[in-house]
Amino acid sequence: MYPRVILKETLYKKSQQKRRTSPCNYKERIFMLNTQDLTYFEHRPRKRPTQKGCIELSHIKCVEIVRSDAPIPCDYKYPFQIAHDSYYLYVFAPDNDCRLKWVRALKEATQCNNLFMKYHPNFWGEGKWRCCHQTDKLATGCSEYYPNGAKPLPPTPDPKCRFLDLEERIVVALRNFHPEEDTDLPLHKDEEYVVVDSSEPNWWTVRDKNGNVGSVPCIYVAEKISNDIEKFEWYNKDMTRTEAEELLMRENKDGGFMVRDSRHAGVYTVSIFTRASCIYRSDGEKYPLVKHYQIKETEGENIKYYLAEKYVFSSIPELIRYHQHNSAGLITRLRHCVSRNVQNSSRIKELSSEKWEIHPDELILSEELGSGQFGLVWKGYWHEQQVAVKTVREGFMSEEEFKEEAHIMMKLSHTKLVQLYGVVTQRSPMYLVFEFMENGCLTDFLRDKKGCLSQEVLQGMCLDVSEGMAYLESSNFIHRDLAARNCLVSNDHVVKISDFGMTRFVLDDQYTSSYGTKFPVRWSSPEVIRFGKYSSKSDVWSFGVFMWEVYSEGRVPYDNRSNSEVVEALNAKLRLLLRPRLCPQSVYDLMQWSWKEKPEDRPSFALLLHKLACLHQDP
Ligand code: ADP
Repeated sequence: MYPRVILKETLYKKSQQKRRTSPCNYKERIFMLNTQDLTYFEHRPRKRPTQKGCIELSHIKCVEIVRSDAPIPCDYKYPFQIAHDSYYLYVFAPDNDCRLKWVRALKEATQCNNLFMKYHPNFWGEGKWRCCHQTDKLATGCSEYYPNGAKPLPPTPDPKCRFLDLEERIVVALRNFHPEEDTDLPLHKDEEYVVVDSSEPNWWTVRDKNGNVGSVPCIYVAEKISNDIEKFEWYNKDMTRTEAEELLMRENKDGGFMVRDSRHAGVYTVSIFTRASCIYRSDGEKYPLVKHYQIKETEGENIKYYLAEKYVFSSIPELIRYHQHNSAGLITRLRHCVSRNVQNSSRIKELSSEKWEIHPDELILSEELGSGQFGLVWKGYWHEQQVAVKTVREGFMSEEEFKEEAHIMMKLSHTKLVQLYGVVTQRSPMYLVFEFMENGCLTDFLRDKKGCLSQEVLQGMCLDVSEGMAYLESSNFIHRDLAARNCLVSNDHVVKISDFGMTRFVLDDQYTSSYGTKFPVRWSSPEVIRFGKYSSKSDVWSFGVFMWEVYSEGRVPYDNRSNSEVVEALNAKLRLLLRPRLCPQSVYDLMQWSWKEKPEDRPSFALLLHKLACLHQDP
C-alpha cells in the first residue's frame, strides 16, 4: 500500500549541522509528510524537484514549536523542531497557523513512538542550548514534552471549547488565591501560569510550573507581556550601531532610545542618547553621547533579562517599560522611543520655535471652569482675550519634557484644534494657556443636549474632529488619547480637539500603563493595550469609539463591562456591537472599519474625512 500524503507545503529549513564543519544555512524546500516519512525536496524551475532529505516517522522523538526571540535570518519566522535520531531539524513556517498545523500533524503521526519525556523549547546554537545553557547537544531537555499538546484536563462544561493553542499564553498572578473546590488551583502572587483554557467567562484553567492544572478566577491573573519584541515601536530590526547613533543624534532628544540587534546573534542592545552627560572634544566643545547597553540574560532554566544587574525582568518589554520610568543604573531613563519607522513629528520640528513663555502678570484668572486629570481649569484673560488656563498638579507630569515639546505643540495650528497659546513655567504649579471654548467638554454637551441633537449635527461633530485629526496625521503627530472628553465645543458649536499628545508627559502609572485603573482602555486599540504601540492608526481606532460616543449622545462605551472585561472582549475580537439608534449604517460601517484588528487594515484620517464629508453632503 502506498503511503498517504498528509501535508505538502513549501517551508524553510535550517541546516542540521550534523558535522561540526557543516555550514549554517537556511533553504527553501518542499516538505511532504506522509504516513511513513517526512521528505523534503529542492524546487527547480521547469525540472522535477530533487529529494534532499528524508526522515522516517518512526525515528522522530519530539515535534514542538521553538520559542525564541532570536532574529531569524529567513523569510519565514515561525520555527518548529523535529528531533530525530541524534539530530535536530529546525523548520520555519510562514505564519503561526501553518506552524501549528504541521506540529499537530507530526505529533499525531508520531504519538506511538518512543518519545522524549523532556525537550528543549529554544534553539541549539553556538555550542549551547539557548533555553538551559547546556553545552551537550544531546543533553536531556529542560521542559516537559506533551506529545498530545498538553496534560489531560479536568472536565469543563463545554468540551467543544477545549481547543488547545500550542502557542502558550502566559499569565502572571496578581494576587494569591486559595482554592475553594477540588478542581481549583492555588495562585501565588507574581508566579507565572500557562493558560490551558480561557473559554469560560470567569474561570480559566491554568497550569502551574509543576504541571498541576486547575481553575482560577481570571480577574486574579494578567497577561504576561510576551518577549516578541518585533511588534514594539522601539525595536529597530537590523540596525547597526552607526545607524543607531546617526538616528538618535538626528532626533536629538534627551533620553531618546531604541532596542536593536547586537553584533552577536540573538543578543539585543539598548542605545540611548543623552545631552545631560557629554563628551568633551579636544577643542573643548561638548558633544552629546550615545551609550549602548547590551541586554543580558541570566543563567539557568528561567531566563530573565537585565541591563543593570539589580533590576531583572522576565521579558524585554517589561525591562524597557521599567526603564522608561527609572534610570536605575543607566545614563538616563528611556524617555523617547526613536524608531526608523516613526520619525517623531519631524516635520513640525523643522518649524522655528517662537516665544512660548507667558509672563504670569499678563494673565488674569477669573472663575473656575472645572477640574481635570491635570488639575484645575480656570477661565482667564490674556491681553483682553478670553482663555482657558490649565494648572498642572505638582508631580503629575514631567514638566521638563513638556517644556521641551511645548513649542512643537504650539506650532500645531488648525481651526479644529484647541490652540495652545503658551505656558507659564516661572511659577509652580505650571500653567498651560489655551483657546477658550464656551460650551466646554463635548461629553457633557452631548449628555446635556440628549434628544435635541439632529443626525446632521452629530455628523458635523464627527466631521470637525476628523478634519483636526487628518491635520495631526499629516503632521506626523499622534494624539494618544482621543475621546469625546478630550474635545471641546465652541460658542458656534464647532467641535475641536484638545489635549493632543499630552499623555506622554503624565508620570502617574495609573494613567499610562495599560494595567492602570485610569488608562483609557475603552478607547484604546488592541496593539496599544498589548504593546503600547501608538500610531495614527491607533488614533483611528479611538476615533471610531469617539464617533460611537457622539451618536449615542455621550454614553460610556461598553458601559456594561469593567475595564478588564473590555480587554477580554477585545482579545476575543468583540467590538461595540450595538449601532447607536441615531447612527446611520454608513457611519457605523466607518466605525467598524476603524476597529479592524490590524492597524494597516484601518483607514487613514484623510480617507475618513473624505468619506464623512461625502456622507455629510449626501447623507
Ligand atoms: P484635563 O485635561 O486636565 O483632564 P479637562 O480638559 O478635562 O482637563 O478640563 C476639565 C474641564 O475644564 C472640562 O470639562 C471643561 O469644562 C473645562 N475646560 C477645559 N479646557 C477648556 C477650554 N479650552 N475652554 C473652556 N473650558 C475648558
